[in-house]
Amino acid sequence: MMASNRQVNSNTESVDNYLKAILALSGPEEQSVSSTALARRLGVAPASVTNMLQKLASARPPNVEYEKHRGVRLSPEGKRRALEVLRHHRLIETFLYEILDFPIEEVHDEAERLEHFISERFEERIAAKLGHPKFDPHGHCIPAMNGRMPKQRSKSLANLDGDGDFVVESVSDRDSALLKQLKAHGIAPGSRLRVTKSPQEEFILKATRQPKSLRLALSVASAVRIRSS
Ligand SMILES: [Zn+2]
Repeated sequence: MMASNRQVNSNTESVDNYLKAILALSGPEEQSVSSTALARRLGVAPASVTNMLQKLASARPPNVEYEKHRGVRLSPEGKRRALEVLRHHRLIETFLYEILDFPIEEVHDEAERLEHFISERFEERIAAKLGHPKFDPHGHCIPAMNGRMPKQRSKSLANLDGDGDFVVESVSDRDSALLKQLKAHGIAPGSRLRVTKSPQEEFILKATRQPKSLRLALSVASAVRIRSS
């Protein structure tokens, strides 16, 4: 939760992280994002966020459109860069998982470090080696070279009202302990699941042919996205 000078200066890495966070928080509808939500996601003080957003808005060309009381949106340039970094991130995760046999819960942290620095040539080679994958190991779409990314039609487990059978579309890459737990219960993109909601508002997940079920609290349920089976 530190707002050190290192985090607020405009080096590539922190600019990239802001753009990526805005892309993630604005969702498929590309809504504007509040600086409070951004501060929470990045783990920095709200004042640092304001400071950085002003810099991003005054860059030429601007990376964001920012008005203090209306929140922030990516400019076309900011969106292009955010998608490029996201493509790097997801390709690196896939490479680490498929080729280097990293466990799924470890690829995100490695990719967070490398994504800012790989060249276009390196990116191309990774993509070719992997056969131009469309999804990363968490089930997230990898943006295409031209930045195009299909919208996924899944819904968050947290928004589920009734019990039922579903297919896992994606799992969040941000909580490695949870990823490990999901893996131990056979829950990964493509798994078939029976979901029951307990009276305590917990989700009980049971993957096909798995002996044990997993109880997930409502607070972490948004880490899993599902679609109808
Ligand atoms: Zn990741």
